[in-house]
Amino acid sequence: MNLKDYIANVPDFPIPGIQFKDITPLIGNGKAFKHATQLFVEFTKEIEADIIVGPDARGFIFGCPVATQLEIGFIPVRKPNKLPREVIEFTYDLEYGTNTLCLHKGDIKPGQKVLIIDDLLATGGTIEATIKLVEESGGIIAGIAFLIELEFLKGRDKLQAYNVLSLIRF
Ligand code: AMP
Repeated sequence: MNLKDYIANVPDFPIPGIQFKDITPLIGNGKAFKHATQLFVEFTKEIEADIIVGPDARGFIFGCPVATQLEIGFIPVRKPNKLPREVIEFTYDLEYGTNTLCLHKGDIKPGQKVLIIDDLLATGGTIEATIKLVEESGGIIAGIAFLIELEFLKGRDKLQAYNVLSLIRF
């Protein structure tokens, strides 16, 4: 099965010049979604991760089925004012403005082996912020997995210290 066949390219969304990679055909197809999940499950086993962390919001879509299948936990990284308990947060620069991500304090236990799963690696800003939150919590990043990697944006350059898997590359 070629997972690329299930990604729709949407030109000029959300702004002119951006080619948006739409994952909804993939998750809308049971066999394709299961196949992607299985590949993530195999990686999770290989790196012996104890817990999955997924950034808001598409990291939830791919992280949760992997966690349930392996009977390990899932921890969400969220945008501000969504998590109800005390959080640690990290703010990073976007092309225009900044973005902040939050993680519940104490959710990750020091020394826990973490796999971060997200839908797409573009510039790497989101994943860098997620890494910072996990490491500040005392978690060990055992691996980072993406459904899609936009290689021309060179986000992987920021991840040289880590074991990175991407299932589809453009
Ligand atoms: P970045 O922080 O630049 O690596 O961007 C990461 C997040 O932005 C991803 O998790 C995607 O959800 C979203 N994103 C960025 N570029 C695209 C794109 N071309 N198509 C779809 N989603 C994108």
